[in-house]
Amino acid sequence: MSESKLDIPTGVLTGDQTAKLFAHASANGYAIPAFNCTSSSTINCVLEAARDAKSPIIIQVSNSGAGFYAGKSLPKTEASILGAVAAAMHVRTMSKFYGVPVVLHSDHCAKKLLPWFDGMLKADEEYFKVYGVPLFSSHMLDLSEEKDDENIETCVKYFEKMTKLNMFLEMEIGQTGGEEDGVKHEGDVSELFTHPDQIWKVHKALSAISPNFSIAAAFGNFHGVYKAPDGGNRVKLQPQLLGKHQAKICEELKKAGKDVPATGKPTYLVMHGGSGSEKSEILEAVKNGVVKMNVDTDTQWAYWDGVHEHYKKNGDRLWKQLGGKDNDDGMPNKKKYDPRVWIREAEKSMAKRVTASLTVLGSVGKYASKPELEGGAPVAPYVRAICK
Ligand SMILES: [Zn+2]
Repeated sequence: MSESKLDIPTGVLTGDQTAKLFAHASANGYAIPAFNCTSSSTINCVLEAARDAKSPIIIQVSNSGAGFYAGKSLPKTEASILGAVAAAMHVRTMSKFYGVPVVLHSDHCAKKLLPWFDGMLKADEEYFKVYGVPLFSSHMLDLSEEKDDENIETCVKYFEKMTKLNMFLEMEIGQTGGEEDGVKHEGDVSELFTHPDQIWKVHKALSAISPNFSIAAAFGNFHGVYKAPDGGNRVKLQPQLLGKHQAKICEELKKAGKDVPATGKPTYLVMHGGSGSEKSEILEAVKNGVVKMNVDTDTQWAYWDGVHEHYKKNGDRLWKQLGGKDNDDGMPNKKKYDPRVWIREAEKSMAKRVTASLTVLGSVGKYASKPELEGGAPVAPYVRAICK
């Protein structure tokens, strides 16, 4: 059977369009990587790589990443809300011109960070009132540290509000190891594996509201890059467990006399802690219905490595404005230390790493469109429409 066309627009997607993208990915055996961005520079290089690879993309901001976007000197909660809004406006302004469909998402929100979530949701509501679409495509709620009942009840409460705004929800049940935004999971190893019964409970509660949600299940995954099992605390990934979740939902749906999708994958799964994973583990996760994989640590390294390489290549000319480290030849070094030069090296290096994720997950070539600027498309009316 030939692959059906991916029928979504460029720019920031709504919840329905996000679900359409994930359904296409699930049916055709690929996934879309989600990159944590903390600046306009990192957003631009993700858009650049997605455009060049003709791929849809997911751009997300974490709580502290959004705070950084706004500026480290500002009060934390306000900065994380305003920074998320500023990043969202940047993505909205630029993504159509790159010709890329973007799922614009916010990453982990634990219970103590709910004021951040409420602030973003308010911005979504305000945006919806004016333009008929939410500011973001989706948000993640991560109450996985709480009891399952509280986790699911909180998700239901927020998901009802979000559904009215045509938004998509990502939730987590079971715990991803490692550290994210200062939340550390180092407890019992058995907690690092979500049980199929937990997944069914979530699927049942949320699908009664809307199909536009995904579940981040724990299958031994860790945030960050750690040593291998013999040298550190990393648990071996068990992506085959994700297939059991899908099978459990199918079984329950059949019992209830409901339709089971032909793909055998009734729910959208998300893989956290994608950095440092083996290709075979990633592919098995995708086969079992992972449609989104988060990548942060590896792109952080790539961004830094671009600067590092620039320094190694030009070290002698990066000590003073004029002259080399140990000589006074008086030659200007501006072309070496201008941020546009070394930040660009960081961007090029990160874009390469983004392309590597797009390639592994199989999303390269899934979307081809012309950037809206091509052919001299009028800029002014579009800018007016988004920058009211
Ligand atoms: Zn995560």
